[in-house]
Amino acid sequence: MSESPVYLDHHATTPVDPRVVEAMLPYFTQQFGNAASRTHAFGQAAQRAVEEARERIASVLGASAREVVFTSGATESNNLAILGAAEAYAARGKHVITLATEHKAVLDPVAHLAEKGYETTILAVEPTGLLEIERLEAAIRDDTVLVSVMAANNEIGVLQDLAAIGRLTRDRGVLLHTDAAQAIGKVELRVDEVPVDLLSISGHKVYGPKGIGVLWLRGKNPRVRLRARQFGGGHERGLRSGTLDVPAIVGIATALELGESERAIEARRLGGLRDRLCERILGELDDVVVHGDRDRRLPGNLNLGFGGVPGEALLTGLRDIAVSSGSACTSADPQPSHVLAAIGVSPQVAHASLRFGIGRHNTTAEIDRAAARVVEVVRHLRAIYPGDESRFETVRPE
Ligand SMILES: *Cc1c(COP(=O)(O)O)cnc(C)c1O
Repeated sequence: MSESPVYLDHHATTPVDPRVVEAMLPYFTQQFGNAASRTHAFGQAAQRAVEEARERIASVLGASAREVVFTSGATESNNLAILGAAEAYAARGKHVITLATEHKAVLDPVAHLAEKGYETTILAVEPTGLLEIERLEAAIRDDTVLVSVMAANNEIGVLQDLAAIGRLTRDRGVLLHTDAAQAIGKVELRVDEVPVDLLSISGHKVYGPKGIGVLWLRGKNPRVRLRARQFGGGHERGLRSGTLDVPAIVGIATALELGESERAIEARRLGGLRDRLCERILGELDDVVVHGDRDRRLPGNLNLGFGGVPGEALLTGLRDIAVSSGSACTSADPQPSHVLAAIGVSPQVAHASLRFGIGRHNTTAEIDRAAARVVEVVRHLRAIYPGDESRFETVRPE
């Protein structure tokens, strides 16, 4: 019988860590109170759990507890940050800046602002995927109120220089939001060290549950103001009404704490596995490019483009290895990834690209199996589709 598939898609989602599940369990059946029911013990126990979780998350971030707002995930956090700040500061200016390589959960709210009469600038990145600071500097105007730059890219794993970007935005009196869904728990990122003003987190990217997220917003110097997007019971200081999901809140707090306490060791381990995967594939195949900067990147990320291989056939051949391709396959006609396009990768090579996301439970044996399988499938496809038009078209700028 065939072996079970290898999961190498940890940028898409992660399994919930069993320690997280264990911490959540009492809050489903025993401590099930509504955290807003302040008048009795059930509600008070739930409220205590929520406030403790808020403290624990704040301590991981180097923040204070009242700066932590619970949401349904990084998509909602990004929407609340971008739309909420743009509205709150509209009197000061209506110009917002972001990057071409952002997640859709940033690009789409920014596009929505453009429809609403805001001016938006979508900055190009270097062929490495990194933002050149001078490019941002030139784009900031007197009416710019918000810059949104992701901490780590979900496709090519590159880490933007938030310290330098934050120094610039602070200097120019502009707020900086960062989508940190991929970065938190994997690289060091503390808001008492890096001058960001708003930061989005997702539970299910950090071995916590799905459907829970955090928006952190700076409480002083500057105190960030937001216009709420959702109205109701006035939960979360009026910024996000809706009954709190207590088990998920306990879960994301536990997940973030575990991620932080194991981060340094895990980063070294993942980096080792990633380099092993890369060396095994590049050692056996020619016409393979590594997408994104080679040094400033997430330890568990590897994104490769294969010349001379038809994209769909590549994924089909890799059925027992769970990875993502360089196409958005939400439609019948797959579109090449906007991130790969932004770093100058041709549509053909984008379709024949694979994103590997290595995670907490992957073993060396799994990495070796995945590498062998990729080599085998690519060799096979190149043999049956000789002279495919995408061959060697991938030469990256620089
Ligand atoms: C997954 C992801 C999101 C969306 O997070 P959800 O919690 O699933 O809404 C946003 N940004 C990045 C960079 C992501 O990787």
